Amino acid sequence: MSKGNADLLIIHASELVPCAGALTGICGAELERLDVIQDGALAISDGRILAVGPSEDVTRSWQAPRTIDAHGRLVSPGFVDPHSHLLFGGSRHVDYESKITQRQSGKGLAGGIGFTARATRETSDTELTRRALADLDAMLTHGTTTLEAKTGYGVSCREELRLLRLTAGLRHTVDIVPTFLALHVLPEDYVGRRQTWIEEITMALPGAARIARYCDVSCDPACFTFDECLQVGEAARALGMSIRVHADQTGDANGAALAARLAASAADHLDYARPSGLQAMASSGTVATLLPGVTLHLCELTPGVRGGTLGAAEKPFMPMLARSAIDAGAVVALSTDYNPGSCPTVSMQMVMQLAARLFRLSYAEIWNMCTLNAARALDLAEDRGSLEPGKRADVLLWAVPEHGMVINRFGSNFVDTVVAGGQVVVEAGRVVRGETAKGVVQCS
Ligand SMILES: [Zn+2]
Repeated sequence: MSKGNADLLIIHASELVPCAGALTGICGAELERLDVIQDGALAISDGRILAVGPSEDVTRSWQAPRTIDAHGRLVSPGFVDPHSHLLFGGSRHVDYESKITQRQSGKGLAGGIGFTARATRETSDTELTRRALADLDAMLTHGTTTLEAKTGYGVSCREELRLLRLTAGLRHTVDIVPTFLALHVLPEDYVGRRQTWIEEITMALPGAARIARYCDVSCDPACFTFDECLQVGEAARALGMSIRVHADQTGDANGAALAARLAASAADHLDYARPSGLQAMASSGTVATLLPGVTLHLCELTPGVRGGTLGAAEKPFMPMLARSAIDAGAVVALSTDYNPGSCPTVSMQMVMQLAARLFRLSYAEIWNMCTLNAARALDLAEDRGSLEPGKRADVLLWAVPEHGMVINRFGSNFVDTVVAGGQVVVEAGRVVRGETAKGVVQCS
């Protein structure tokens, strides 16, 4: 029997984890299932996966001009990171020290989203783009091949639309899904005129809908109410946008139920979500995205909002949060929530490592939540998120041989090689540019 022609073979992986499962997302007891192919292999052609299986089977059926020997290495799907605030100006490291030491900095506590919004406004298009491309390089070398990127630091309609245009204009190997975060925080000059802000945002939606795939709203006691988010969410849906929700981060605003009501693709944070809301999300097929990086970075510093005032945090026992979402039957995903204030990390590996420690999830659950379920959170599960024939060839080769080692160890980058859309784009931990990458990687 003659062999079929592929562009690239990856063979002899010590472990290959396909992370395959239902395209509607992996939930319940199925999350504990993670197939592991010993001495695994992949055949890739035209940016797509042709075959996955034991090396013996794949090499019997396929030949290619280039073969990568993955002996001693784990092979997995590329990560899908379904929640980030990619574009922003400035840094909040001074603010953070003030928070953790409970001291005021020399200039006073110039922190918060308002600080970042000002810094973003003062940063040019060119500089915001340069910073974003550098961050995308870092994400890629840590294994992220698809990223959701939302606006939110404009805090004026004009600025939000500028950030959206810049996001959509980024040219990088990491595939970017742009989101218009319409309702993030109320601008200071709209205090007492909330409805005016809602109306202005609603008027900006047709322009945003031409560029963004998603409209995001913050349903939280510190941000916007169920009814305010419903108004904007329904307007966005009428324009053909899909919905994402920041839900119940600092307290219960019934955000999980709102996400279900809007048939949102995902609701994220959910620290104070009601069980009934999580169950409604399971019924509506809304993915619950958990953000353990935020849990770590803010520790007990996130104030809870009760009765309209900020108080000390009363965090639900963190392992309960993840378990209650799983038990409600929701599809659960994990994400960085990369942003300057509450989670300045680009690393999905860090997220996996924290999910084990803070949420007490198993290795299988964590791998499924960062791959196929994360793709499902972006409505991309049919195209990527697992190593299966027909899917986009986004593949990671690791410097460790077994999938559990990626989570058990922490603090280092264990990704060695990244294949995105069938092209080798990271080798020995470094972004490959020029000829080898066939122009796929845009210089930053
Ligand atoms: Zn966020």
